[in-house]
Formats: sequence, C-alpha cells, structure tokens
Amino acid sequence: MVLDNLVYGHASSVRWGPLEVGDLADPQRLAEVFSRYRPDAVMHFAAYAYVGESVEDPAKYYQNNVAGTLNLLAAMRESGAGQLVFSSTCASYGHPQTDRIAESHPQVPINPYGRSKLMMEQILADYSSAYGLRSISLRYFNAAGADADAEIGEDHDPETHLIPIILEAAAGRRPSVQVYGTDYDTPDGSCIRDYIHVTDLAAAHVTALAALMQGHPTDVFNLGTGRGASVREVIDRAAAITGRRIPVVTGPRRPGDPAMLVADATRAGEILDWAPHCSDLDTILASAWRWHQSRWADDDQASPVRP
Ligand code: UDP
Repeated sequence: MVLDNLVYGHASSVRWGPLEVGDLADPQRLAEVFSRYRPDAVMHFAAYAYVGESVEDPAKYYQNNVAGTLNLLAAMRESGAGQLVFSSTCASYGHPQTDRIAESHPQVPINPYGRSKLMMEQILADYSSAYGLRSISLRYFNAAGADADAEIGEDHDPETHLIPIILEAAAGRRPSVQVYGTDYDTPDGSCIRDYIHVTDLAAAHVTALAALMQGHPTDVFNLGTGRGASVREVIDRAAAITGRRIPVVTGPRRPGDPAMLVADATRAGEILDWAPHCSDLDTILASAWRWHQSRWADDDQASPVRP
C-alpha cells in the first residue's frame, strides 16, 4: 500500500495497491494505517527535495524530512515493522574531493536538504543499534527518465529539473533552457551529473528490500552509473533524440551546485548485485520524451486551446 499526502505526489501514479492519503506529520493517521495493514517493511520516499527552497525555508525541510520521518519510525516501532529502505541523496556529500564519490567519502552537505537526509541516515544508524530497526539508505545521484510504458514520469510543479526543462524547450512549451553556469572547472564549463534511470532505481529498491528481509544489516549504497554528463551534453543528446532544435541561453551558476557529482557505485554492484541497465543518456532521454509527449497530449485534450 502507498501512503502519500499528495502534496507533490499524484494519485494517478499509484498503480499496484491501495492508496491511503495521509501525512507523516499526523501520528494518529500513521497509527491507523499501520494497524490496518501491518507492514513488515517500509520504503520511505516522502520528502521535500528542492535544494534552493531548503536554503530559503529550512524549517519546512527539517519539519517534514526529519520530524516527519521520526513519526514514521515511531509508527514502525509501535507496529513491529522492522525494515526500512530510505531515499537518501548524493547531496549529502557536499563538494566532492574525488572524481567519483564512494560511500566512504566525507559527508559535508552544503544545504539544508542534504543535511536533512544526512541527519536521517545518522538517526537510522542509531535506531538500528538501539532498537534493531534495520535500514538500507540509498543515495541517489540524479534520478531521471520515465517508465518504459510511458505511464509514469517526472511531473513536478514547479519544474526545476534539467531534463524535463530541456524537453519542454524542445517541444516549444517554454522558450529556452538556461545553462546554470558556464565557468565550472569541467571540459565544457557546465556542471556534470550522474543521471540514473528511475527503472534502475526501482530495481535497486526491490533488491535492497530483499537483502533486508534476508537479514542484511543496516547499510548505505550509492546509486549511480559512474559516468557523468555535462549540462551541454544532455542538451545536445536531447536535440538528437527529439529531432528538435533546443533554444539555449546561458546564465549564472545556481547557488549550492557543485561542479561535478559522479557516483562510485561499486558497492551496490558487489553487495546487492545491482547494476544499471537502462541508464545510458539516450535511453533516459527517449523514455522521458515519450512520457512527456503522452502527458502533454492528455493535457491538451483535457483543456484544448480554443480560437
Ligand atoms: N540545470 C541547468 N538548467 C536548468 C536546470 C538545471 O543548467 O534549468 C543544471 C543544474 O545546475 C545541475 C544539473 O542541471 O548542474 C542538474 O540539475 P537538476 O535540478 O536536474 O538536478 P540536481 O542536480 O539539482 O539534483
């Protein structure tokens, strides 16, 4: 079953089980849902994740991402759910000291979003030692792409993520894409990120859950490809995949953006036997393009532009 407050989530994305609408801020609602379903394990994705907003309104982030998760953990302990897969982030590392970031890299986050996730990792380690609540934290790099059937994709409001913005520009639904910073110490001056397909991320969650069910101790894994792509490369590949012209403007750096974030995901391969299968940039872009086109077609049908 899925519990979601639908603030940023969509009921239409819940396909394989009942949806319970509720908020982590509401312990009574959590107790109700936990006593009804008695889950053995939880996958916890619910969090605010806009880096810029977290700088402007940290209370919103600590309240939801940390205090909300504490409520969830209390409900889990109360009902005897002993295993958790937790969405963490490469933003918990801060500025990288190496080209590829391994799990052992120091975690010095540079914004409240990253700090809220790091705090939760630390709290989870303490809960594991003290209460035996085992968890696997998965540090995602840049989640991207849409499912192969084009049924579920990125649907954010506001949209701030690079790939959806590029595709909107390709479709003429926004005038241009702005490259945030062209003076980074990277080959073409734009930021480098490690884009990982959501289908590969989903598979890692299933694997992590299976490992926990078999007794795997509390652990942490990076999820990325180990290959980086610059903002300009993503735009160039998107132009090739869509066959559209993508108007580009350049702008200043976005505060809080490190030049390069690329995973060393060797551990997830060795220990979880996980490997990305659909995370090459072209596959990511093609799947996202298919999904965006089908969503725009639905939107346009729902509210056609009348002369
Ligand atoms: N980016 C950009 N223009 C945009 C949105 C993002 O140049 O309109 C850059 C951003 O600076 C970062 C990369 O694209 O280097 C990925 O950003 P996104 O917001 O998609 O993910 P994040 O790295 O923040 O998780």
